[in-house]
Amino acid sequence: MLNEDAIIIGRLNCDEFAMGSSNENSIYGPVLNPHDLTKVPGGSSGGSAAAVAEGLCLASLGSDTGGSIRQPASFCGVVGLKPSYGRVSRHGLIAYGSSFDQIGPLTNNIEDAAIIMEVIAGQDDYDSTSSNEPVPEYSNSLKSLPKSLHIAVPSEYLNSNAIDNEIKDDFINKIAQLKELGHKVKEVSFPYVDSLIPTYYVLTTAEASSNLARYDGAHYGYRSKNSKDIETTYFKTRSEGFGLEVKRRIMLGTFVLSAGYYDAYYTKALRVRRLIKDKTDELFKAHDLILLPTAPTTAFGLDEIKDPIKMYLQDIFTVHANIAGNPAISIPLGNHTNNMPFGIQLMTNKFEEEKLLACASYMMNELN
Ligand code: GLN
Repeated sequence: MLNEDAIIIGRLNCDEFAMGSSNENSIYGPVLNPHDLTKVPGGSSGGSAAAVAEGLCLASLGSDTGGSIRQPASFCGVVGLKPSYGRVSRHGLIAYGSSFDQIGPLTNNIEDAAIIMEVIAGQDDYDSTSSNEPVPEYSNSLKSLPKSLHIAVPSEYLNSNAIDNEIKDDFINKIAQLKELGHKVKEVSFPYVDSLIPTYYVLTTAEASSNLARYDGAHYGYRSKNSKDIETTYFKTRSEGFGLEVKRRIMLGTFVLSAGYYDAYYTKALRVRRLIKDKTDELFKAHDLILLPTAPTTAFGLDEIKDPIKMYLQDIFTVHANIAGNPAISIPLGNHTNNMPFGIQLMTNKFEEEKLLACASYMMNELN
């Protein structure tokens, strides 16, 4: 970005180690939603979404391990894109779940997202998982769209009882508009919806517990002043330094990786991940897009969700793309009668960001 003369004007708040759906897990305090200061902006990249929504900057970057770009984009009424796994280098990003994390843009419109993607996508010697697939000129292909799109809508998602009625009605209305415009929208079955959140939380906490092991007070970051030997340095540094949610995930991740439970949880979740990937690939053999809501609700109140499991269920529609490695975008097409914005989510096959952005641009112009 700097090479292309971007001007970086500030750092933005986010949940500690990108763990959260509300931006309330931050040592700096919570971010407020610019549309209503009593509500959360979503998380974990809540600061990035709020700053764009409020006009504090033209665009921002966020990181998305399970929805942290798209869900705050939905809550704040901006565009948020999570690229395919490997499309953008993770060099410089502090790892949460290394096989899930991607950096992506939060913007006011699709064109800005396309321009930023052109700059940040591509192979990087410092990230061996970055792909050497050529980077298209995304901003030049926003108009190149197949005449009739084949769109899949997994019925299990829509029938989830987590979803707000108005968001569901709006989604059904968008499907009707797309059909009227001549596109083929088909209800398909995605039988793993109930397994998405458990799979995500087993695998990402496992990866996080390993990634965060480096915060031992010896290498860098915080070191407890109350320690007297190596053992108490580790113990006190980690006890004092990490926040509650991060500790919860380190413990969960350590548990699922422990000798006695590794196969029951970690290996099993890896197998389910494979099933989810295979089924997703299969859907894209016959469809250009999967259409989903972004989040089950609009922004909720600060301090409203106290139960961590309830908070985890916020991610029900977003973790799919990270588990499977596909690109997905949230576009701000919804306005709830509670005066809060909400997004609709598009997913394409891997490395089809060009098509994803073109479809998103089309829907921003054609749907209401
Ligand atoms: N809300 C999800 C979580 O807490 C997603 C976080 C993210 O994408 N970084 O894990």
